[in-house]
Amino acid sequence: MNTELNNTPHRRYNILTGEWILVSPHRTKRPWQGKTEESKKEKKETYDPSCYLCPGNTRASGDTNPDYKEPFSFVNDFSSLLPDSPEIDFEEGLLKAESEKGICKVVCFSPDHSLTLPLMEEEDITKVIQMWKKEYKELGGKKEINYVQIFENKGAIMGCSNPHPHGQIWSQSSIPTEVLKKSSRFKEYWEENGSSLLGDYLEQELKAGERILEENGHFVALVPYWAVWPFEAMIVPKRHLQHIGQLNSEEEKAYAQILKKLTIKYDNLFETSFPYSSGIHQIPTNGKEYPEWHFHMSFYPPLLRSATVKKFMVGYEMFAGPQRDITAEQAAKRLNELSDIHYLKKE
Ligand SMILES: [Zn+2]
Repeated sequence: MNTELNNTPHRRYNILTGEWILVSPHRTKRPWQGKTEESKKEKKETYDPSCYLCPGNTRASGDTNPDYKEPFSFVNDFSSLLPDSPEIDFEEGLLKAESEKGICKVVCFSPDHSLTLPLMEEEDITKVIQMWKKEYKELGGKKEINYVQIFENKGAIMGCSNPHPHGQIWSQSSIPTEVLKKSSRFKEYWEENGSSLLGDYLEQELKAGERILEENGHFVALVPYWAVWPFEAMIVPKRHLQHIGQLNSEEEKAYAQILKKLTIKYDNLFETSFPYSSGIHQIPTNGKEYPEWHFHMSFYPPLLRSATVKKFMVGYEMFAGPQRDITAEQAAKRLNELSDIHYLKKE
């Protein structure tokens, strides 16, 4: 890589969204005078009688969770989208609105309240992946559902109020903005080169090596060149797959393995249960073909310098565009120096 990029302000291009990010590596030595928060190390119980996601407990809706032993999903009691909202097509001068139908679900990753993905066994994470596949197919198979967004908000700092290991799935009739952006980049590249944009990027990254975090037979975890969040990462399948429904059983296992490895590194970084939002981007479920698409999972973690110092998207970033101080290469180096053994399991 051009070493000048380590010391001088520059812009990097995000090939997936077509957007630019400002990188200011010369600033990393300035003293920190921002917000700090109390780091909490609390011992968690495997069952919490007041948790609405634990097996056998009653939720706000009055429904009782079954005594589940494996990943369990249900329709969110406070869904942001509803399957039967009325048809609206509103336009008045410059004001425009349209109806949106959808189904929101919650996926409990494990019955054990005290766990998180990095603390779960690989075979149990594989079951979470199988649940994602099942939901993607079932929800996506519905006539009114054209896109299925699988994601996880981890940690109170990300606005997640319940520590029980769980994620969410929002599925809807329209195709959301972030997916549309990526769709056009994938398509453009495909029409010009006849190959997968992300597949070719992966090949280049594997050759360069400096942003690679983990690699196994079927998946690669890396810090994308255009990362916005300090320790942003991406998991990409080596095979050119459009959606998780296409994963074979070997790939499911390899996905679980890399997911565990990456999230262990994250927890080890500041010896805390590392907060993030993660999500899977894949093809719409509107019945159309998208051979150009290459599914992937992104992690956007807010922590910057310690368990208590987080990055804020304010000022310039609100008004102009994203900016970061430490480079993607520095972040990858930092993560690669960490142990593969979770800090809570070390003796
Ligand atoms: Zn719980």
